[in-house]
Amino acid sequence: MRQNLYNFTLQEITEIVQKIGAEKFRAKQIFDWLYKSKVKNIKEMKNLPLQLLEQLEAKYEIALPEIIKETKSKLDGTTKYLLKLKDGAKIECVLLYDKERITLCASTQVGCGCGCAFCSTGSIGFKRNLEPCEITGQFILMQNITQNKITNIVLMGMGEPFLNWENVNKAIIIISDKNGPNFSQTRITVSTVGIIPVIKQIADSDLKINLAISLICVDDEKRTKLMPVNKKYPVNEIIKIAKYYNKKSGKEITFEYILFKDINDSIKDAEEIIKKLKEINFKINLIPYNNSLNKDFSKPEYEKILKFQKILIDGGIKTYIRKEKGSDIKAACGQLAAESGEEK
Ligand code: SF4
Repeated sequence: MRQNLYNFTLQEITEIVQKIGAEKFRAKQIFDWLYKSKVKNIKEMKNLPLQLLEQLEAKYEIALPEIIKETKSKLDGTTKYLLKLKDGAKIECVLLYDKERITLCASTQVGCGCGCAFCSTGSIGFKRNLEPCEITGQFILMQNITQNKITNIVLMGMGEPFLNWENVNKAIIIISDKNGPNFSQTRITVSTVGIIPVIKQIADSDLKINLAISLICVDDEKRTKLMPVNKKYPVNEIIKIAKYYNKKSGKEITFEYILFKDINDSIKDAEEIIKKLKEINFKINLIPYNNSLNKDFSKPEYEKILKFQKILIDGGIKTYIRKEKGSDIKAACGQLAAESGEEK
């Protein structure tokens, strides 16, 4: 089976061409064809010698996921794309529009094995990891649609990025390569439920990406019920690694806090956050729960959300309420499930 050229970093393509016996500079030419000219097949790489083209074509191909459905929100223009991968698996990605800002919310796995109680993706279970080309592929397709106007990428779609870190890391290196798409790492945010070994790896690396952790609550018993991964990586461990990340990277962390009515929205919950997280450099995004499919959870009243925010702000915490986007097309946080019932 031929391998997809979108799977490889510039360094790997350099190794490929050198192995074939071609000059090193050909790798950069190939990268240009892939990410600047965006050719659809290897034959179109006109400045490569015929022999190299034939050798590349024998082993490699250029392929992107196929967009099979596009759904646009009537409320705010958020657009969700259902994509079909080479093996027929389906994933979703979302474009969110906010004034000058266009954010791509991309997926990193088909399904997810973390089993968070409130999440539609979690209810599918884990199918497989996305390859780097399937992550960069979402970016390339969406850059084509927006005419290269994506300003931010959040890896918060289907899947837990840190359980597919090798491929996600490679996709980030490709997307941010100055010789390729040149998309700044400082505009990429990776969201995790708190896979501690990978957070440590990132803290120790040169990556400039932003880190978001789905906190959900700071009480272990409650958090474990909502997010089974908490058994392995409990709140105290998350607090420890967050401090380590602050110290090593010099960067602030974002905690995502989905607010569920009568579960984690009390005054006590807010006070616990202030008490437990006081030594961390962070901001917190409050995300009013929105998933019409799951009747076990609901959104707190708006006054209660504002009160929760006020307690945190008064406690010295930078606290924002995330604007709801795409809730009418099931594109909001935790709603992606690559529903494909209507597809042929
Ligand atoms: S919230 Fe994230 S980690 Fe949890 S099940 Fe959903 S996709 Fe997986």
